[in-house]
Amino acid sequence: MNDDADAVRAAALEAGRLLFAGPWRFVLGAATPAALPPTDGVEVAFAGRSNVGKSSLINAVTGRRALARTSRTPGQTRQLNVYDAGARVKLVDLPGYGYARAAKRDVAEWTRAVFDYLRGRANLRRVYVLVDARHGLKPTDEAALDTLDEAAVSYQLVLTKADKVKAADLGTVVAATAAAIAKRPAAHPAIIPTSAVSGAGIADLRGEIAAFASESGVAA
Ligand code: GDP
Repeated sequence: MNDDADAVRAAALEAGRLLFAGPWRFVLGAATPAALPPTDGVEVAFAGRSNVGKSSLINAVTGRRALARTSRTPGQTRQLNVYDAGARVKLVDLPGYGYARAAKRDVAEWTRAVFDYLRGRANLRRVYVLVDARHGLKPTDEAALDTLDEAAVSYQLVLTKADKVKAADLGTVVAATAAAIAKRPAAHPAIIPTSAVSGAGIADLRGEIAAFASESGVAA
């Protein structure tokens, strides 16, 4: 990497550090999109199969150990949970999908809930779709990506639990995931490996989210 690229990355990481140094809080859990707060500032959302590590990742990104619930019955939560630290950026925790029992109904319900959410969220910059680094993309993930492609919302794949995978195997799953989404129209090509346990990738994710805020002119 050259000096310019290093400087750009360092600035992004610092902006991310500052954004997430603030006191993040739970704003509300919305049973329907109509109950969501106004679309001021920018918004990014997190999606993934139940048990993928979504709550743990949101806790790690916000630096709040128990902000998103980390233990609950898989597939139980259907609401959209919103977190913020002031008016600039909101994080939206979408309902988990793909719980083995009632999988078909689950996907249909998730699709409807997410479509309802996407309609009218003009400030939504990206949906981070979480995938377990040990398993890679599953058919229910592919179905969720179909929904996001259809809605034409920019999304990016984030691998979770990277600490559970050997470095060489992580490279393989990153490459396989990148290949699997290469032809998907709304997918960002870069895959972000993360671990809520080791902290890997968390600063990068913070930096990306801060960049959305500054691009939109809502940075401090
Ligand atoms: P959610 O259902 O997607 O919100 O998943 P949770 O955040 O509740 O995590 C599901 C399980 O995976 C829990 O037992 C977590 O402790 C575990 N987990 C989550 N993230 C990580 C990680 O980065 N590394 C490891 N080793 N375990 C994780």
